Amino acid sequence: MRTVVQLHKPMYTEIGGLSTWEVIPSPGLEMEALDPFLFLNDHGPQVYPPNNEGLPFGPHPHKGFETITFILDGDLVHRDNTGYVSAIKAGGVQWMTAGKGIIHSEISSDEFKQKGGNIEMLQLWVNLPKRLKETDPGYIGLQANDIPAIDLGVGAKLNLISGEYQGSKGPVNSLTGLWMSTLEMKAGAGQRFEVDPSRQVFFYVTKGQVMVNGEKVGGKTLVRFGTEGSIITVNATEDAVILFGHGSPTGEPIVARGPFVMNTEEEIRQAWKDYQQGRFGKPLDH
Ligand code: MN
Repeated sequence: MRTVVQLHKPMYTEIGGLSTWEVIPSPGLEMEALDPFLFLNDHGPQVYPPNNEGLPFGPHPHKGFETITFILDGDLVHRDNTGYVSAIKAGGVQWMTAGKGIIHSEISSDEFKQKGGNIEMLQLWVNLPKRLKETDPGYIGLQANDIPAIDLGVGAKLNLISGEYQGSKGPVNSLTGLWMSTLEMKAGAGQRFEVDPSRQVFFYVTKGQVMVNGEKVGGKTLVRFGTEGSIITVNATEDAVILFGHGSPTGEPIVARGPFVMNTEEEIRQAWKDYQQGRFGKPLDH
């Protein structure tokens, strides 16, 4: 069994009126702790009234990593300066490779701004190793029905985003061999997973309550595992939704400054210069 070494509670803040739990990094859990998983923000649930301003994430750059955004409720319009415009609804996922540099916005649809509704979404940043930091930027928008929902047969469902499970394959071909899913479990459901000890496990309970390798884990809690053992057993004691993935650590230095994640301070300075001098491509007006 993989040992549970930490149950981590996020820190609450608001970003432009948006309820946000900062999971990684936050006091007690550094950005380096779960290499290659760098950053996780959990937004909502939060009801926006009619005629609202929507999400506050207008045009901004990124470089050196990938963002995976899980839209549990509400919607999210991604627009970037390579030309993608993509409105993803509840149950969908946005997977963006920032690579050598991209400018994008992440905002609500006009319909959501007019009608209002519930927002519930999470954004995870996954590092790219040095050999991929200059890769071309890319974006994949997945609606709920693009993601295989694997029935685990016991009131549990695994929505597979990348990698393989029980003969099914997720729609994203990860550059780094990342395996990523969301796990939805009804109270009473249980499942046993096997993850190679060389892989870092990412396991975050966004709602509900589960027992994980014998530890009771409530909502909005990240489970950090040790590096030995391969078995992870999950038993839901309440209906639960979990982000569950694993990946190979980069083993490289992490220098993260705002929207850029590189290996050295010099590379960060160069990234700002490249962005300011227009080498991330044309600006985005909204
Ligand atoms: Mn962004």
